[in-house]
Amino acid sequence: MSGNESRVQAIYQITNREPMALATPEPLSKIWACDVFNLAKMEESLSKNAFKAIKNTVQTGAPLDAATADIVAAAMKEWAMSKNVKFFSHIFFPMTNITAEKHDGFIVTNSEGAAITEFTGSLLIKGEPDGSSFPNGSIRMTNAARGYTAWDPTSPVYIMHTDNGSTLMIPSVFMSWTGEALDKKIPLLRSNNAMNKAAQKVLTLMGETDIAPLNSSCGAEQEYFLVDANFANSRPDLLLAGRTLFGAPPAKGQQFDDHYFGAIPARVQVFMQDLEDQLYRLGIPAKTHHNEVAPGQFEIAPYFEAANVAADHQQLMMTLLKTTAKKHGFVCLLHEKPFAGINGSGKHVNWSVGNATQGNLLDPGSTPHDNLNFLLFCGAVIRGVHLFGPLLRAAIATASNDHRLGANEAPPAILSVYLGDQLENVFQDIKDGKLASSEVGGLMDLGLSQILKFERDPGDRNRTSPFAFTGNRFEFRAVGSSQSVSGPLIAMNTILADSLNWIAGELEAQLGKGVKQDDAVFAVLKELMNEHGNAVFGGDGYSADWHTAAVEERGLKNIPTTADALPAFREESVKNLFKNTSVLSPVELESRYEVYAEQYILSIEVEAKLMVEMAKTSIYPAAISNLFELSSTTSSMAEMGIEMDTSVAKSIATETNAMMAAVEKLGAALERDDFASIEEHMQYSANEIHSLMDEVREHADLLETEVADDLWPLPKYREMLFIK
Ligand code: ADP
Ligand code: MG
Repeated sequence: MSGNESRVQAIYQITNREPMALATPEPLSKIWACDVFNLAKMEESLSKNAFKAIKNTVQTGAPLDAATADIVAAAMKEWAMSKNVKFFSHIFFPMTNITAEKHDGFIVTNSEGAAITEFTGSLLIKGEPDGSSFPNGSIRMTNAARGYTAWDPTSPVYIMHTDNGSTLMIPSVFMSWTGEALDKKIPLLRSNNAMNKAAQKVLTLMGETDIAPLNSSCGAEQEYFLVDANFANSRPDLLLAGRTLFGAPPAKGQQFDDHYFGAIPARVQVFMQDLEDQLYRLGIPAKTHHNEVAPGQFEIAPYFEAANVAADHQQLMMTLLKTTAKKHGFVCLLHEKPFAGINGSGKHVNWSVGNATQGNLLDPGSTPHDNLNFLLFCGAVIRGVHLFGPLLRAAIATASNDHRLGANEAPPAILSVYLGDQLENVFQDIKDGKLASSEVGGLMDLGLSQILKFERDPGDRNRTSPFAFTGNRFEFRAVGSSQSVSGPLIAMNTILADSLNWIAGELEAQLGKGVKQDDAVFAVLKELMNEHGNAVFGGDGYSADWHTAAVEERGLKNIPTTADALPAFREESVKNLFKNTSVLSPVELESRYEVYAEQYILSIEVEAKLMVEMAKTSIYPAAISNLFELSSTTSSMAEMGIEMDTSVAKSIATETNAMMAAVEKLGAALERDDFASIEEHMQYSANEIHSLMDEVREHADLLETEVADDLWPLPKYREMLFIK
């Protein structure tokens, strides 16, 4: 097809589409977790003793003995086979943001050639994918490459149905033979342990005697775009890079705010219903869905769960968003900035820590004592964000998220904490010594009752902050929509663990001097605020003033690109943080740095190459055809003595030449490979390659506004965003 024929056909197809008919929805009670082998199903099918053992493992992470593992595996197989499942797979999360699987059949044949099925405890517990093709930094030489996967019993197994059959999926960790973590799950589990240990110390010093294990929780709000597959299929950039590399802004963008919380289009509604039914079957508590700010943009948020399970579920949700969209004739774009100039997509990671005995430690309590615990945990977060802001920035650094951060609708690339007026005042009073002593009659009481009256102010949520307290949790808003939530969760748990360890040390010293508990808490928090209060910011994070003040007055860092952010992984303080908390060894940390840096360079390279190709093979020919038409008509008309306007032809010629000159430069820039270090290479991608890409795009987008519409080869923004 030439010219805009594919666009015309796409529009025809789309406007004549009917929403897919769905089967009558089943009641929630019938489908909820029906494809999950959870504790309830284990209880039904296991002996009392076996169930007790596995329950203990699931709830506390205690090791499972081989005999019980065999019994559990047999019950699992029976349950899966009763649902017509013939394959199983360990599913794991390598250092990239992807999900990896290796499928095996339950089938074995016996000496008579009959097919029997087998699934033992050891098959359940351990798998050996040929992991050599997963990025591992420099941990494993590929010739010695054998990683293995091991079941994580704290995340339940489930059945994944696809058009190609159903598979029993076993959530697993992925490690090298030498025991190094090659994935995102191991450090997440370790960070949770570190946080638990540190929190236990603080709570014990606070006089708590009954302290259940603490766990972190996560509720992630996922933003995404839906574009009709007919359009996406004619855009190589959307298919290969997940975002448009070209595209002039539509006359109508999101200026009217008429999409946000507006009625959800019928086709999308059907898609959401289908998606949610699948999520419910997998025990994923999808709770809210709505339109987002940009046209064609939506959000889905499940109810929060234990961080480890939430992370697995989040990964599964991203997979299902894509496969379900396909079924409904859409392409789901999880990219952070699919359309330049249009609102980008984030993933707000809501995070809290708590346990069965003390509850949510980030929830202001109803007694003065609970409030002291709350203030300590909250203070610990403030300290962590201040000390390790660059690490948090690095944890969300990807080529795609760079397009969104710091744009005018997304959090800035400066890490600060928003507390809300009330809580900010409390911490300010602590800092100023107004909430310090119980000796001055009544002052302490005043202080505590002031805190006691602390009310959540969910209304006033500062949308411009990258890291905000929202009543009973922190919300990390700078996380990108396509990212795994594990990285940010690991960073948050680990900095919290470090701060709680510091607080425990300080508290212990104060208490050792005979200082009363309340006074000790305030003394520690006062010191903490003196050192780290600069990270607290309640104003407009988008404003230019903040960008200056944060850096010049507060000493915070503005870290615009991944190239600037990732080197945080090599900082001594960060190495020590991960080492001291036993979350990542220096080797494991370094391997992550290398993998992320390589991915960054690679994704920019892929986009740049694609850009060169599209400019040469789609846009240039369209411009030339148009010039041919215009020039031949103009000269024929001149022969007839009629002078035609040539301004458009001239402008197209100028822009085409300028675009091709930029393409030439970009192509040449991509040839360079003599980099002294990976940092230098990243900076080159972030600066040289990026600015040449911007240059190519600028001319191409101008061409889009001048070349005849019937010759333009790529679906336009207005079509992709507004035709449903
Ligand atoms: P928003 O107004 O920010 O869009 P949503 O209701 O869409 O809020 O999403 C909030 C998310 O935070 C949900 O996933 C919710 O379950 C989660 N959440 C609520 N309380 C907690 C908590 N204590 N810890 C972690 N996540 C929580
Ligand atoms: Mg939110």
